Amino acid sequence: MWVYDDARFAMRDVLRLSRAMTFKSAAAGLRLGGGKGVIMLPPDREVSPTRRRDVLLDFGDTVEELGGRYSTAEDVGTSASDMTVIAKRTSHVTGLSRRRGGSGDPSPWTALGVHVAIEEACEEAFGSRSLQGRSVSVLGLGHVGGRLATRLARAGAKLVVADVDASKRELATKLGARWVTPAKAVTADVDVFAPCALGGVLDDESVPALKCAVVAGAANNQLADDSIAELLQSRGILWAPDFVANAGGIVNISVELEPDGYDPKRAEVRVQAIGDVLRQVFEDARAIGATPLTAAMELARRRLREASP
Ligand code: NAD
Repeated sequence: MWVYDDARFAMRDVLRLSRAMTFKSAAAGLRLGGGKGVIMLPPDREVSPTRRRDVLLDFGDTVEELGGRYSTAEDVGTSASDMTVIAKRTSHVTGLSRRRGGSGDPSPWTALGVHVAIEEACEEAFGSRSLQGRSVSVLGLGHVGGRLATRLARAGAKLVVADVDASKRELATKLGARWVTPAKAVTADVDVFAPCALGGVLDDESVPALKCAVVAGAANNQLADDSIAELLQSRGILWAPDFVANAGGIVNISVELEPDGYDPKRAEVRVQAIGDVLRQVFEDARAIGATPLTAAMELARRRLREASP
């Protein structure tokens, strides 16, 4: 749910998001296609709580009309309680609270997946997956980044962290992490840079200034454009494709759709498998002399071809 200036922007966004979802699900080996729902809010007026609820009910009706070909889930601008409103009109909704039989907040699972991805990337770059003593810079201490930083600190990593929200400094202190400005977090002299804020952080200006050996994080659309994958490679920086590393949330949700229903133990096993996917991506990239982006896209395309009738 987002404010768009006009319906064409909303349409462009939903197509971009659904394409990314297709590749994310395919690369993760899920039996899901790619779909996304966008609810466009008007730029020029406040939406009252009653109207917001009506909008969610309308959205539920729309999802119901698709008869199960599309299941919706929480994302930017919506919460688990919004999913409860949508569920009044359709059963094709995931990510309900655990109390209501859903899988709840996806962020801890995304954080687990990114943690596993960082370990796998360290194995590829340094020949060891241990994070004991590794230095990691985490940009963005939100739902995912905050949990990721906590996990990394527990694993013995030395942390540099940043957020535009100064209240996140408290967590930095608790974890014994060094608090820096967001710009310094990007160019910190560390083993791993983990972007966990907004997209587009890797571009023609930031990549030449990076001092890390590995980039692996949760943010969607980290590359300003696809050519940045080559720039990273030419600088000898290993990039874990974002749509592989941050698939933990959708992998967890996919467990809700399995015949036996949701089970957190099964979800954990599935999310851990992100490490296997990433290993395959790095191996393929080495074998064909391509970037991890090309290798991950090719892996996803192969799975889509196999799944097509
Ligand atoms: P969030 O909004 O909870 O956290 C983002 C954090 O980044 C906030 O603390 C915010 O203050 C901070 N931030 C924003 N701009 C910043 C900047 N320029 N510099 C430094 N910090 C900045 O979001 P989230 O759910 O943690 O998601 C983080 C990223 O991971 C997003 O790109 C999201 O699309 C992606 N992602 C999230 C999930 C999930 O399960 N939540 C799944 C897949 C991908």
